[in-house]
Amino acid sequence: MSLSDKVVIVTGASSGIGVAIAQVMAREGAHLSLVGRNVTNLEATRALLQKQNKAIQALTVVADVTKDTDVIIQQTLKQFGRIDVLVNNAGILSTGSLIDLDINEFDTVLNTNLRAIVLLTKATVPHLLKTKGNVVNVSSCAGICHFAGALTYGISKAALDQFTKIVSLELAPQGVRVNSVNPGFVVTNIHSRIGIVDEEYKKVHERAVNSHPLGRVGDVFEVAEAVAFLASSKASFTTGALLPVDGGKHNFTPR
Ligand code: NDP
Repeated sequence: MSLSDKVVIVTGASSGIGVAIAQVMAREGAHLSLVGRNVTNLEATRALLQKQNKAIQALTVVADVTKDTDVIIQQTLKQFGRIDVLVNNAGILSTGSLIDLDINEFDTVLNTNLRAIVLLTKATVPHLLKTKGNVVNVSSCAGICHFAGALTYGISKAALDQFTKIVSLELAPQGVRVNSVNPGFVVTNIHSRIGIVDEEYKKVHERAVNSHPLGRVGDVFEVAEAVAFLASSKASFTTGALLPVDGGKHNFTPR
């Protein structure tokens, strides 16, 4: 995929989709800067990658994306001296309607899913200009569609999609691409982190199966392969794209 020896930052590389992205990037020969808060999980990702491909280098950067933009950039540059790809994957889920809105939660979700990405992308761009690199954002089908009861999360991802499209136009003249993948339901820890477990999780999962036209939920590697494609030279004429990886959910109309 022509990711050989590219330096790729993956945020949220300590869990779920981010681990799979790191694995696919490593398989393609990229060197990884693995960002997350949970040091044990980050080290587990690093060990997994090095078992998979001894030729690649993997750095762990223990950082909170809402606060530590400079740490992420500086540690990556210190280790590798360049940045080719930024994958903005770290994100948090939130459920609830306007009536139930908790404004502190709203601020936390927007800070994580939008503001942190804006700041990290802005800080990375000078380095991407040097390498003619690119950005891949991990959004959601909740950015393209609109689901009652996913107010805060939907707003955060829809705004992220606008960010992807606008910045892709701003950076296109300099040869830097910006794209997005928009996954449907994928089994990770994202639901249990906000207390969706047991019977409630079963119901949410079943609803997801029934609302994805392919009749199932997605796998982390299906998302990761799409991210790696957009990051690679195979997608060299693609910018500003929002790629649904959602079993057709973005076109789903309930009967
Ligand atoms: P997980 O909960 O499994 O992983 C989330 C990752 O984000 C973790 O590595 C976590 O790191 C990191 N993270 C969250 N907040 C911060 C922060 N402030 N600073 C640094 N890292 C942070 O979720 P997924 O893998 O499912 O989610 C990955 C992305 O995919 C998210 O953007 C999500 O919105 C999107 N997505 C997921 C879907 C799904 O069904 N799973 C569907 C559509 C989109 P740590 O644990 O170290 O804090």
